Amino acid sequence: MSNVETSPVETTCGEQHTPGAALEVITPREVPLGGPRAMTVRRTLPSRHRTMVGAWCFADHYGPDQVAETGGMVVPPHPHTGLQTVSWLFTGEVEHRDSLGTHAVVRPGELNLMTAGHGISHSEVSTPGTTTLHGVQLWVALPAAFADTAPQFERYAAEPVEVDGATVSVFIGSLSVPGRDEVMASPVTTWSPLLGAEVTLPPGGRLTLAVDPAYEHGVLVDGGPVHVEGRQTDRAELAFVAAGRDRLEIVAGDDGGRVVLLGGEPFAEQIVMWWNFIGRSHDDVAAARAQWQAELGGADAVRFGLFDYPGDRLPAPELPGVRLRPRG
Ligand code: MN
Repeated sequence: MSNVETSPVETTCGEQHTPGAALEVITPREVPLGGPRAMTVRRTLPSRHRTMVGAWCFADHYGPDQVAETGGMVVPPHPHTGLQTVSWLFTGEVEHRDSLGTHAVVRPGELNLMTAGHGISHSEVSTPGTTTLHGVQLWVALPAAFADTAPQFERYAAEPVEVDGATVSVFIGSLSVPGRDEVMASPVTTWSPLLGAEVTLPPGGRLTLAVDPAYEHGVLVDGGPVHVEGRQTDRAELAFVAAGRDRLEIVAGDDGGRVVLLGGEPFAEQIVMWWNFIGRSHDDVAAARAQWQAELGGADAVRFGLFDYPGDRLPAPELPGVRLRPRG
């Protein structure tokens, strides 16, 4: 998906946070995605007090929405730089097209991972057969060393594993699972140490995972409430767990639970995120915006490319008047 806010603010991410917040629950804010019957997403990253979990820098939870009411997802071609988009669905289907020539249908349980690198454009439209749309849209910031890498697109059908009554699907990175010798691992490309997994718990279910103490974690709750390390976390909230723990406990209530577990080493760099671009500076973002607008205006599509789409591409909003710098 895209950030289709009409007046996005420039966000500096990766700043040092107040120490001591070893466990905190982030409450989402509702963001309309635009259009006459706009579907609304619930955003927990970036939030005011926490902008990232590892390299995860953007987290939207949406649905279950009745497409007949919301109009579903219709995001025309738009650009990205310096990040990966991670599409993960619980219900429904989304058709993805991009300037690499990719034409893919995102389905529940199947990761679609797009590395934007230096530049790519894509569109995302829920399929005509989709009546209910429900999922998460996540972004991963690329470290500076890889921010200008060539774009690529990968898919991976995660293999669900049953453990202690729970179901775990690792779609990015790797995770040890209790009672199993082998580590569950996803083969997709990561540019920094990273974890992404879906965990489903039965009513009253309790799962204790061995996790990398070098990672910080975020538990994005889809179905709940659940308790993460003893802290109640409701639907669409994100429980943040600081690095330094080697166990992570998730406990479901009477309704069971479903969460997306995010993890990664604390991101050591600072980034500037605005609209659909990530750069190291305001100038990086301004240059990407100028290039996209030039390509919309007919310049050769040398950075963001072109592909067939039955409609106009999405113009960039105006840059904010305030010039922000990454803080060090
Ligand atoms: Mn997008």
